[in-house]
Amino acid sequence: MAAHDPVEQKYVYDFAEGNKDLKDLLGGKGANLAEMTNLGLPVPPGFTITTEACKAYLTTGREPDGLAAQIEAHLESLEREMGRRLGDPDDPLLVSVRSGAKFSMPGMMETVLNVGLNDRSVVGLSNQAGGNDRFAWDSYRRLIQMFGKTVCEVPGEEFEHALDEIKRAKGTHNDLDLDADDLRGLVDAYKQIFAKHTGREFPQEPREQLDLAIRAVFDSWNAERAILYRRQERIPADLGTAVNVVTMVFGNLGPDSGTGVAFTRDPGSGAQGIYGDYLANAQGEDVVAGIRNTVPLQELEQLDKTSYDQLLGIMARLEEHYKDLCDIEFTIERGKLWMLQTRVGKRTAAAAFVIAGQLVDEGLIDLDEALHRVNGAQLAQLMFPRFQLDHEFEPVAKGIGASPGAASGKVVFTSARAVELAAEGESVILVRRETNPDDLNGMIAAKGILTSRGGKTSHAAVVARGMGKTCVSGADELEVNVPAKKFTVGDHVVNEGDVVSIDGTTGKVYLGEVPVMPSEVVQYFEGELDPENTDDALVRSVHRIMTHADAARRLRVRTNADTGADAARARRFGAEGIGLCRTEHMFLGDRRELVERLILASGEREREDALSALLPLQRADFIEIFREMDGLPVTVRLIDPPLHEFLPPLEQLAVNVAVAQERGEDVAKEEALLAAVRRMHEENPMLGLRGVRLGLVIPGLFAMQVRAIAEAAVAVVRDGGTACPEIMVPLVGAVQELETVRAEAERIIAEVVGDSGVEVLIGTMIEVPRAALTAGQIAEAAEFFSFGTNDLTQMGWGFSRDDVEGAFFWRYLELGIFGISPFESIDTDGVGRLVRIAAEEGRAARPGLKLGVCGEHGGDPDSVHFFHSVGLDYVSCSPFRVPVARLEAGRAAITTTGSDSR
Ligand code: PEP
Ligand code: MG
Repeated sequence: MAAHDPVEQKYVYDFAEGNKDLKDLLGGKGANLAEMTNLGLPVPPGFTITTEACKAYLTTGREPDGLAAQIEAHLESLEREMGRRLGDPDDPLLVSVRSGAKFSMPGMMETVLNVGLNDRSVVGLSNQAGGNDRFAWDSYRRLIQMFGKTVCEVPGEEFEHALDEIKRAKGTHNDLDLDADDLRGLVDAYKQIFAKHTGREFPQEPREQLDLAIRAVFDSWNAERAILYRRQERIPADLGTAVNVVTMVFGNLGPDSGTGVAFTRDPGSGAQGIYGDYLANAQGEDVVAGIRNTVPLQELEQLDKTSYDQLLGIMARLEEHYKDLCDIEFTIERGKLWMLQTRVGKRTAAAAFVIAGQLVDEGLIDLDEALHRVNGAQLAQLMFPRFQLDHEFEPVAKGIGASPGAASGKVVFTSARAVELAAEGESVILVRRETNPDDLNGMIAAKGILTSRGGKTSHAAVVARGMGKTCVSGADELEVNVPAKKFTVGDHVVNEGDVVSIDGTTGKVYLGEVPVMPSEVVQYFEGELDPENTDDALVRSVHRIMTHADAARRLRVRTNADTGADAARARRFGAEGIGLCRTEHMFLGDRRELVERLILASGEREREDALSALLPLQRADFIEIFREMDGLPVTVRLIDPPLHEFLPPLEQLAVNVAVAQERGEDVAKEEALLAAVRRMHEENPMLGLRGVRLGLVIPGLFAMQVRAIAEAAVAVVRDGGTACPEIMVPLVGAVQELETVRAEAERIIAEVVGDSGVEVLIGTMIEVPRAALTAGQIAEAAEFFSFGTNDLTQMGWGFSRDDVEGAFFWRYLELGIFGISPFESIDTDGVGRLVRIAAEEGRAARPGLKLGVCGEHGGDPDSVHFFHSVGLDYVSCSPFRVPVARLEAGRAAITTTGSDSR
């Protein structure tokens, strides 16, 4: 290698210089090619240009100093190793130029193959290939096509039209029927297309081809579809891509050559075995694009047993080395196997759990690592219902179960239509012959994806799995006609807007809407499936990993529930108490009338009557909940929303009164109600008379609730149960508010509990920013804090929680102001900082202060990790998210150096 300035940054790494842990620098593909090279596996020699070089290029708009010379030096060394020069007319070295970011972005960025071919070296390539002119000219036309499209933005259809034209003239549909002369003619046609669009001839200088291709890969980091994919997958925008320059090997040299992709286990179910697709006499891109139908990898055994056995040996070696499911791409050139890529493979949620369990059994990983390898989003996906199938539903087609789940919706045939209908609130199924990266928007908008071509490794399958979206691929009984907006299957014609259902586990396609049933994972959580006694590998693995998560976690997990039924279900799902029982739901239905009486009460007497009528009803509610949660803490929040929410809407009432007056009816009661509604009308009710403010303004309201809670607890204890009530005051912003409520509550509790042994804690929500910032004072009057992160986010950002998500969040997401709604995942920098301050200052003032969270974030995986890190005692979430929170709390508690399998 030529010497260069020793202090100059190193931008280029030979494959032998890297390893799998250098993904930040070399990208996933480069790091893993290096790893395989160092394992002694057959990798075509090459080098990797770092993500640092890409970042420097993207920032300044030009290649960093020293990069060109380093590429030159590595190229020379590669030429020496191969004994050929790039583009040499007699015996050319050809290279592929491939993108490779830290996180895999399937099909999002660019690749150029056959770099180094020109009008002269095409002859040398033919000689190298034993006089195979056809192959040489086919390779050359592929270069012009890929280079034109990728590097110079020549519209791809132009090349496709020219190819179709030649096939038509020849009277064939098959590329393989074109001979060397046809392809030579095609090269001429392609060159003209190139010149027409770029105003220059196709570059003949190999090094110029290489440099332009490298630059195009750098640029592709910021292609629109790549940006969209990153946003969807939450991949940071500033990582950049590496570029791999790899010696070309050819899978299209004849029937003893070919190319394929494989998984070391089934990425759909996790089952052990050999899964893959093979395509004889083809180049790599043909398989992933799903353009020609592949054969199962097992058939390679008949075609080329030596390569097949070698491949199986390598796959076993890779699994053992990476200790995980690997996916690979390989090429066989005239009976010689080459490894073009490996990585820890993407997998479905079910496969993630099953494989983690298997790897523990095989002694490759421990349970901590198994826990690290699954996540709450996957578990949530496994809790989705599945199709409930009986004899009424006969599938009309069967494709490949490419990404599991059950999805029904209206058929659409284009990405744009999918986006349009989804925006109108429709469920849609995107049906395509095969998808390509331009379909990404439609795939995001659709409930499911159905294709008529392509295997488990087609674009549709890979991307859908990554998104956790249901996908059936390769349903080849479907005749998809996109321009006519219909597909036919057997005797059926399905038009745009007709409903179909697809099962991403079995690959079956149904006409119409199929009803759904609960998943086996939910049946397990419900206690209906015994994990020790089932042959369901998924349930066994979920049970094992959940058990480990429970043992590992420090955070407790409670639930938000305000009925006995919800409390019971959450308890079966593993809830360790109630973190938020919202009492306002208990004032609805037929109790509305009592609340109206309370609000309209003209004097103390009437108000007390209304409260006395409500008291036994509330008490009965609490008794039911305390019984379901016997022995576990139950946080009951005093009434929070503005009272006018319990009254009829102003406009409707005004119209009713006007109409009744017109008819001369007696409307005295309605008029009083209307007057009350007018009196209580607020411009900003979320910032108005609600929460603790109600308790301070409406005499007796909180007192009634406190009494009902205390009496219910005493009743349960007298019956032999254990009630652990915690009374929570909402919307406190100043300690004085809490002190006032507390003084009255303590008096009532003392009077009610007497010597029953019931203990009642009194605490507050922290959901107003001022409360977070004065937490030290507030802690003096609170035995616990529960963070109401819904309101804290609303008031921290000044975002009306009922309006903004639909109104303008799309724009904020588009601009990257945040990557996910702060109502969904805690904004750690801002709202999270308020939580951290309050936790620290609260605990400083009152050591041992109990801290929890009961906003929606309590069940969000990323937020759970944050709450663990700030030292909360528990998170509380809706019953269905309890298992997710348990799992994530366990994951947050373990430290592992394991791989990031994104
Ligand atoms: C909160 O604000 O986070 C909370 C749990 O209360 P609510 O959603 O009822 O306002
Ligand atoms: Mg709130």
